Amino acid sequence: MVDAPPSSSGSAPFWETKALEELTEEEWESLCDGCGRCCLVKVEDEETGARIDTRLACRLLDIGACRCSDYANRHEQVPDCVRLTPQTARDLDWLPDTCAYRLRAEGKRLYWWHPLRSGDPETVHQAGISVRHIAMSETKAAGRNYEDYAMRPREGRAAARRVVKRRARKRR
Ligand code: SF4
Ligand code: SF4
Repeated sequence: MVDAPPSSSGSAPFWETKALEELTEEEWESLCDGCGRCCLVKVEDEETGARIDTRLACRLLDIGACRCSDYANRHEQVPDCVRLTPQTARDLDWLPDTCAYRLRAEGKRLYWWHPLRSGDPETVHQAGISVRHIAMSETKAAGRNYEDYAMRPREGRAAARRVVKRRARKRR
């Protein structure tokens, strides 16, 4: 991975020097790369506990923008949208390994395509990290089994006819 460019003052940027707990609200929000991957619905096989990632997006996700369409009220609208905090960023094993919160919680650097590094909000899409071109709204899957939309079809078939939970998640 290429080193982050130095800030205009020559010092390391805030996302490399501050712990998650030390970020201001604005800095915290800017750490989100806008990939939308955490807003894809995950289902859990109640028999095995295995998690299945689907390409179904939470009904509130604006797939083109990869942003929540009602961020301020998301927890009222989608009760299982999980609040991301410094602690949950450390604890949640389903966060994508590219997620900036997870990377920083693990003491790792942001990738080159992160908008904070590139200065361009489009690079997360250009690098193929975002869900812009793979997601489909869960509203279009109404009445169907979520596991039919598994990212890895074999996983979905293995879980077929089992009861599954759905979970949609995002940040604080
Ligand atoms: S996976 Fe992480 S970086 Fe990507 S949208 Fe979700 S919170 Fe933001
Ligand atoms: S998972 Fe949460 S943040 Fe993502 S679109 Fe749904 S309500 Fe919004």
